[in-house]
Amino acid sequence: MNYFSLNHNTPNVKFSEAVIRGLAPDKGLYFPESITPLPKELIDNIDSYSKEEIAFQAVRQFVGDEISENELRRIVAETINFDFPLVEVEPDIYSLELFHGPTLAFKDVGARFMARCLSTFSKFDEKKVTVLVATSGDTGGAVADGFLGVAGVDVVILYPSGKVSDIQERQLTTLGQNIKAFEVKGTFDDCQRMVKTAFLDEDLNKVLNLTSANSINVARWLPQMFYYFFAYQQLKDKSKKLVVSVPSGNFGNICAGMVAAKLGLPVSLFVASTNANKVVTEYLSTGAYEPKPSVQTISNAMDVGDPSNFVRIKQLHNADFNLLKSNLLSYSYSDFTTREVMAEVRERTGYILDPHGAVGYLGLKESLRNRPYAQGIFLETAHPCKFIDVVEETLNEKVVIPEKLQSLMERKKVSIVIDKDYDDLKQILLHQSDVLAV
Ligand SMILES: *Cc1c(COP(=O)(O)O)cnc(C)c1O
Repeated sequence: MNYFSLNHNTPNVKFSEAVIRGLAPDKGLYFPESITPLPKELIDNIDSYSKEEIAFQAVRQFVGDEISENELRRIVAETINFDFPLVEVEPDIYSLELFHGPTLAFKDVGARFMARCLSTFSKFDEKKVTVLVATSGDTGGAVADGFLGVAGVDVVILYPSGKVSDIQERQLTTLGQNIKAFEVKGTFDDCQRMVKTAFLDEDLNKVLNLTSANSINVARWLPQMFYYFFAYQQLKDKSKKLVVSVPSGNFGNICAGMVAAKLGLPVSLFVASTNANKVVTEYLSTGAYEPKPSVQTISNAMDVGDPSNFVRIKQLHNADFNLLKSNLLSYSYSDFTTREVMAEVRERTGYILDPHGAVGYLGLKESLRNRPYAQGIFLETAHPCKFIDVVEETLNEKVVIPEKLQSLMERKKVSIVIDKDYDDLKQILLHQSDVLAV
């Protein structure tokens, strides 16, 4: 499979090159040249396939022949070696729990898949790869865990100081080995801007083989489509129309869901549920796309003022605004409403929503109000204990921290504090390579 840049100003590349580069040289995001629907038989009989087989079939065309079938089957199996339960919260409303991976974040799947692809490609390459990634919280932990100890790869994580939760910070600052955390005195958007600038900096790229592990990277973005197949497989009643609500920040996850739909998965409507960072919600109602600085909310993994994957969503709909509107709704919710629904759902059903899942739940309920014939799934993207302060304060009860995270709290944080100034980052990366030496 070849990939083209959405800025259309650079040659098309193979999967491996798209993964190693992250962003295209013309600053565009890579996009697959074609998307061929899966055999209808696979979708119709999805109950009779293993999740490994479904995931392999779904991702295969996007990888092409650069990874052998056996190797790709192994990568896929290792990537998804945990559960993705679909839990009925109330009649016709399901939570797809994506927090059963090693860092309890849905980003585990993308990070694990990408790390394994990169490690396969680096066997053929002498030069070490440096993965540079900006995180609003969960990406960093998932990437750190997914890449920990991967030979031939160094990882540099930028995160906004004071704007990630305690557990999230531990997940990216305590692992050591090939993982380095830079604590930026700024916002997530500042971190993302610095990372994007670094990829295009020729001086830096002469010295380091840089790539990204944000959802701009096709190997992080595409495997997220697995969730939607796993959700559909677990639905008891497949005859009812299906609405899927995705709590969205950079819009990589929902965009992967739309790729799953292109492959033939019967999703009748997508809902992009957002917090106060609502550039897409406004775009769908006004037709004007106006990026804004991000504002801080209790669902901070979605505090994104200019979602990087939105260009891919436009591409999937041939830049046809009306087509997009027929396939995608978007709603935005305040922190107040989010907390209200967390308490209400806990009280009424017993289910604990994290703030991101709560935003997804709200968007789902709102879109089902006029669609009584439909059923809905919202994606629960993080374990409630990842946002323990908000959840405990809102529900007025203690949240149990799973054992796999408890030991983290005793480990020592190690970070490199820097200003939100690209040149500072560059100088450190260029001249203090001992900082990066493993
Ligand atoms: C990253 C993240 C999101 C947003 O996902 P996008 O693919 O960036 O839209 C939502 N919830 C949580 C918990 C996340 O970590």
